[in-house]
Amino acid sequence: MAFQRISYPKPIVQKVLCKILLRKKPRARKRLPVIPQGIEQTRFFVAIDEISTEIGDNKVEINDKQLDDGWYMEPPNTHDGMAITDEEELVSSAVIYPGSTDDVQKVVRWANKYLIPLHPISMGRNFGYGGAAPRVRGAVVVDLGKRMNKILDINPDDCTCLVEPGVSYFALYEEVQKRGYKNLWIDVPDLGGGSVLGNALDHGVGYTPYGDHWATHCGLEVVMPTGEIVRTGMGALPGNNTWQVFPYGFGPFLDGMFSQSNYGIVTKMGFGLMPNPGGHESFLYTFKNEEDLEQLVEIVRPLRIAMILENAANIRHALQVLALSGKPRSAFYDGNGPFPTKIMHEFLQTHPYGECTWLYYGTCYGPKEVRKLKLDIIHREFMKIPRARRIDPEKLPPTDYFWTRDRISIGKPDLEDLSWVNWWPNGAHVAFSPVAPTRGADALSLWHMAKEQWAKLGLDFFFDFVVGLRELHLIVECVYDRDDPKQRANALEAMRSLIKEAADKGYGEYRTHLLLCDQVAGTYSWNDHALMKLNEKLKDCLDPNGILAPGRSGIWPARYRGRGWEIDGDRKSSEGDGVTPPSASTKL
Ligand code: ADP
Repeated sequence: MAFQRISYPKPIVQKVLCKILLRKKPRARKRLPVIPQGIEQTRFFVAIDEISTEIGDNKVEINDKQLDDGWYMEPPNTHDGMAITDEEELVSSAVIYPGSTDDVQKVVRWANKYLIPLHPISMGRNFGYGGAAPRVRGAVVVDLGKRMNKILDINPDDCTCLVEPGVSYFALYEEVQKRGYKNLWIDVPDLGGGSVLGNALDHGVGYTPYGDHWATHCGLEVVMPTGEIVRTGMGALPGNNTWQVFPYGFGPFLDGMFSQSNYGIVTKMGFGLMPNPGGHESFLYTFKNEEDLEQLVEIVRPLRIAMILENAANIRHALQVLALSGKPRSAFYDGNGPFPTKIMHEFLQTHPYGECTWLYYGTCYGPKEVRKLKLDIIHREFMKIPRARRIDPEKLPPTDYFWTRDRISIGKPDLEDLSWVNWWPNGAHVAFSPVAPTRGADALSLWHMAKEQWAKLGLDFFFDFVVGLRELHLIVECVYDRDDPKQRANALEAMRSLIKEAADKGYGEYRTHLLLCDQVAGTYSWNDHALMKLNEKLKDCLDPNGILAPGRSGIWPARYRGRGWEIDGDRKSSEGDGVTPPSASTKL
């Protein structure tokens, strides 16, 4: 995949690129394709021949080459480029590249005929949550992004767009610029290389006031696991011109069923785009003490709900400032154990931000006089915290990370956030992402809980408390060396402990790594796991052969259930003991 160009000031591109050359040489390992359980090897190759003939020889690739982790802009579609276990564990047998919805239907029907598990990806950059890896070893990855990458519509009057899975934030941004739509903004997450559609499906977020990507979507086209195509909302009405402006259509609102699920392959998705508000101003405040978090969160809640704070509140722990320099941990400290707070503070004394523990990055929108009203309120409230400081952006150099946040907050895709992954050699990351009420006491409770694990771990955590609107997401990123089995095992173990402890206190994850889905799904257990029972009922009805992304979000089809595929608590393997042959009545 080629690097999609975007026009940044040259020094920023150079700074980013030299910091994120994560590429690791493929290992000299001889490999065979991993055949998924439930199909004989010879029959699998017959099946591969058949689908190659049907959608084109060069549109199907057997995964028998050495695994190459690539780098962020060229992520692998065969496995997780940031593996948290042995990278051979969650690998595909083959990759198929459909070029149209019609091709996707063919692939799904083929998978039903041969009972081959499929794993759809848009661009496969779901780093920290499993990347492009399938949950079932040997599943066939359906890489939608490579050929289905059209921007089907941008409507500057309604402020909407309609995209295919392979449209990245970079591509959408550039197209809006190219067409000269100065009145339109897109919304981007911390990293801009991912799929607009894929990110929304996994409940990703961004940092303009349109930051809740799923909430701003409007209309889906979905290929069901049995091959039918459905359009949701107004898309079900032939001849409509309202698909991207009214999400509900008529009848039950089914869209939610297709996010974080394995009930369909989404081939088109509409979004509302934010109108340019006529100006913006980003700001940064620092807070000195760890315990200031409590008061800060109490101040943020009413301001955020009232939209005085207009974009997602972003409260970061200051250790990330060191990591965002792109320098490795060893450049600051060569010892073991958690990074010493003392060294962090010493470094910050030499930094324009000064000594602090928490940083608040935010942005106000609108014309200057409108912004001033809001900025004055924010300043008054934030300065109630003793030793709070407003950092003057004019004194920050153009390469400072503040300007990355500034770009992201107006929907310009960026890559700078990747640089903290270089904290360890062969850096990779995995995330713990619990949701809590926006209360100071809850934020402190999560902070203390995670800090305890951090102290035990010997790896570092980067903390980001994000207030979407009413809820607080804590994102804890644990960075590890993906070539070090001990570090990987420790990181996974820490995630497991945190999920358990959080659930015991009433906090649940909004998103998680593939290998943790069963555990997280198991924590949503109210009324004897009534929600999972419903999920399974839907799965068995919509996907009777259980071919689509088995295990995604902890939802296993009947053929896999009770055979040891689910991982909860002590983990042995991600593979179960075979699959049950479907009865004749469930065969398509
Ligand atoms: P991104 O590249 O934006 O991070 P991914 O392609 O990695 O997005 O997708 C994120 C998650 O959503 C993956 O778990 C993947 O299985 C699922 N997914 C992605 N695209 C689709 C799709 N078009 N239909 C159904 N599920 C999808």
